[in-house]
Formats: sequence, structure tokens, C-alpha cells
Amino acid sequence: MKLLDRVHALGNLFGLAEMAYIESDNDLNIITWNNGASKLFKYSEQEATSMTLDALVLISKTELLGCIKPEEVTKTVLDENGNKIWYDFFITPIINIKGEKLGISILVKDISKEIQINTDLKEFRKQLQQIYEFAPVGICKADMEGKFILANSELAWMLGYDSPDVFINKKKKNFYSIFADSKKADEFKNFLKEADEVNRFRCELNNKNGTPLWTVFYARIERDKDYRITGFNGFVIDISETIRAENALKDANETLMLLSVQDGLTKIPNRRKFDEFLANEWARHNRDKNELAVIICDIDFFKFYNDTYGHQEGDDCLIKVAKAIKDTVFRPADLAARYGGEEFSVVLPLTDAKGALKVAKNLNKCIENLKLEHKSSKVAKYVTLSVGTSSTIPNKDISFEDLLLRADEALYEAKKTGRNKAVYKPF
Ligand code: GH3
Ligand code: MG
Ligand code: MG
Repeated sequence: MKLLDRVHALGNLFGLAEMAYIESDNDLNIITWNNGASKLFKYSEQEATSMTLDALVLISKTELLGCIKPEEVTKTVLDENGNKIWYDFFITPIINIKGEKLGISILVKDISKEIQINTDLKEFRKQLQQIYEFAPVGICKADMEGKFILANSELAWMLGYDSPDVFINKKKKNFYSIFADSKKADEFKNFLKEADEVNRFRCELNNKNGTPLWTVFYARIERDKDYRITGFNGFVIDISETIRAENALKDANETLMLLSVQDGLTKIPNRRKFDEFLANEWARHNRDKNELAVIICDIDFFKFYNDTYGHQEGDDCLIKVAKAIKDTVFRPADLAARYGGEEFSVVLPLTDAKGALKVAKNLNKCIENLKLEHKSSKVAKYVTLSVGTSSTIPNKDISFEDLLLRADEALYEAKKTGRNKAVYKPF
């Protein structure tokens, strides 16, 4: 291309370009003014060419005249609404082939939009950072091998560390290593791979100080623009307090449950449990037409025992007697309970008169064998038991209370006829 054609082409380009292009002579008189300059400065070419460069471009006369090499300058002005406008000036001296400076050329660009986007981005990033650090949940980002890319302070604190830097980009202290149970870590990984997402995943994490740390996890796979998995984002919520409260409630419920069916002193079933058990057995034996036996026993001269050895010793004696009775009534279907005071009762399912009397006598024997000294007893040197028993096949005309009454009569007879003995009374 001939030189003149090139000059013409370049002239066209500058003339029509969106970016403002201005040339001045050495006295700063504007001599060239393009389309972009008209748009940016809102002056026509005619108006502009009667102005000087320094009056237009916010750059001082001295600065402009002193320009001997290309320079880039950014300046701001306020527009009529008070908004800041950012201009980027690219200033070059116009030098001929002899090296003489003929003037100055300037390219001007309004960079307000870019600056605004950058400022917005910075502000957005700052806000995100604040949320991320202030969040009362652990937040993290990791690759699929578990290497932490991000982790916030809350997560570090949960795990017993001062700062998340301990984890970030560390191979050893990776995401999967924070799980207390490696099987749970595998489960988490599989869930995530299968469903792209993990919700409400309950697991225990390792806390450096050994404090139990129960958490709930939420995680979601992250992909790049080609849909390749790059890692996952995770949220961790500490639910240790809830778990502690749940456990305490469970324990309290269990204790309450036990208290409602267990005698506080002897730890064998209480009267309430006995009544419930007997009612059930009564109904079952009624249905199947099987024989059911009950025993009521009472410690002999126990008032004297208390008077002689004191109430505390009396309590200890009751505990030992209860244990001996429980151990003697050994069939899994049987139930021995504290009936009240120094009285105990036994339910013997599928048991007839012969069997009932045998167990009753065994009870006499087992208590005698304890050889618990009882100086003030009128029948023996040791603590003894009087036992009454009865049995029947239930039917709709009688109730288990009737059977108990019969056993009580048998007990009364045992007391009356010498104590430390067993009496069976047929129903
Ligand atoms: P009997 O041979 O006629 O049964 O005479 P007893 O003295 O055993 O009968 P009594 O009914 O006169 O007295 C029962 C005693 O049992 C009175 C009471 O102080 C005692 N007793 C009841 N419950 C408890 C208890 O939980 N702990 C203690 N240490 N004593 C109890
Ligand atoms: Mg009594
Ligand atoms: Mg008694």
C-alpha cells in the first residue's frame, strides 16, 4: 500500500473510532478531533478546534507541554449529577522524522464503567467474605480428594483449631480426615458422588481437644463450564448441644421408665409391675386354660429386727432377702416383686399346687440359708420368712385379686401356725 493510502486509511480509522482521539500543535491548539471525541466531550469538531487542549482534558499546560514520551494518566471529574467519571488518557508527543516535536496526540477513554464494575466486585467480595467469616456454620470447599480449598474460621473453631490455615491446601489434614469414623467418611463420599448432593448428613467429627462434636452436613458438587467435577461446597452445623440434650432426655426417660416399674430400695419389680404382670398372666391363663400360682411372703418379726438393729440394717436386710427371692424364682416366665414393706410376691405361670408349694418351701430355705442374724425373732436365730401360696385355672367368674386373697389367707395361716413355713391353700 502506498504511504498516502495508509495515511488515508488510518485517518479514516481515527476519524470514525468510538475512542476519542485529539491532536494539538505545540501551542496546544486542537487541530484534529474525531467522532469519539465529539461523543465524549459533547463538542463539535468546529467548537473543539477553537479550544486549547489543556482547557479540555483536565491535564495542566505544563504537564502537556512537558510530555516527551508516551504516558498514561487517569483523571476523574464529577458529571452534572455529581457522579465520578473516570478518564484514561494516553498522551504521546507527535515527533517528525527529524526528531522535532510538532504537537501532542491524545487517546481518551471513559473507564467509569470498568471502574464501577471493579468497585462493585470488590464490595461484593468484601460482603461475601464478611458473611463467610461471620456465619455461625462451618463453610468449606474441597476437591474430590478432600483437599481443602477454602474453610472458614467457624469450621476451624469447631474442630478445635485457631485458624483454618491448618487445613487449607494440606494433604494430610484433608476433609475426610476430620470424620471420627472413616466408614462415615466413605459413606459421605459415596452419597456425594451418587446424588451430587448430601443433605442432613449426621456424623461425628474429630475435635482436637477430644470434645464430642456432632454435626449435620450439607454438601453439593461443583462443576466447571465443561461439566467436569471440580470439588464440592460444604456446610457444617454443630449439633452437639442438641445431641447432648437428646441423650439427657433419653436417659431421663429410661430412668423414669425404670422408676415406674422398679422398687427403689431392692431394685426388683415393684407392686405396680407385679399387678400389671399378674393381670396379663391371668388373662393369658384364662384364654389357654392353664394353671397359675401366686406366692405372698412376709419376713417374720421384722418389726423386732428394725428395733434391734436399726432401720438402716433393716433396709440392708430387705435388699438381701429380695435378691435371694429373685435368685430362687429362676424360671424366665416367673416374676418376683416387692409387694410392700417386708412383703414379697411371686407369680408362677403354668404352675400347679405341687409346684407352687415346692417354690414356697424353697423360699423358706433360701432365706434361712442367708443366716442373717435375728436375735429378737421368736422362731429362729436367723431371719425367716412365712410363705402363703395358692393356684388356679382362671375363669370368667373369678379375678386375680381372689387368687391373691387366697394366698394371703395361706400366709396368715403360716404365721398363725408357727412362722418360717410355707402353706398352700387350694382355691
Ligand atoms: P410378723 O412376723 O407377724 O410379720 O411380724 P412383723 O414384725 O414382721 O410384722 P409387722 O407388720 O408388725 O411389722 C412389719 C415391719 O416391717 C414394720 C416396719 O417398720 C418394717 N418395714 C416395712 N417396710 C420397711 C422398709 O422399707 N425398711 C425397713 N427397715 N423396715 C420396713
Ligand atoms: Mg407384714
Ligand atoms: Mg412380718
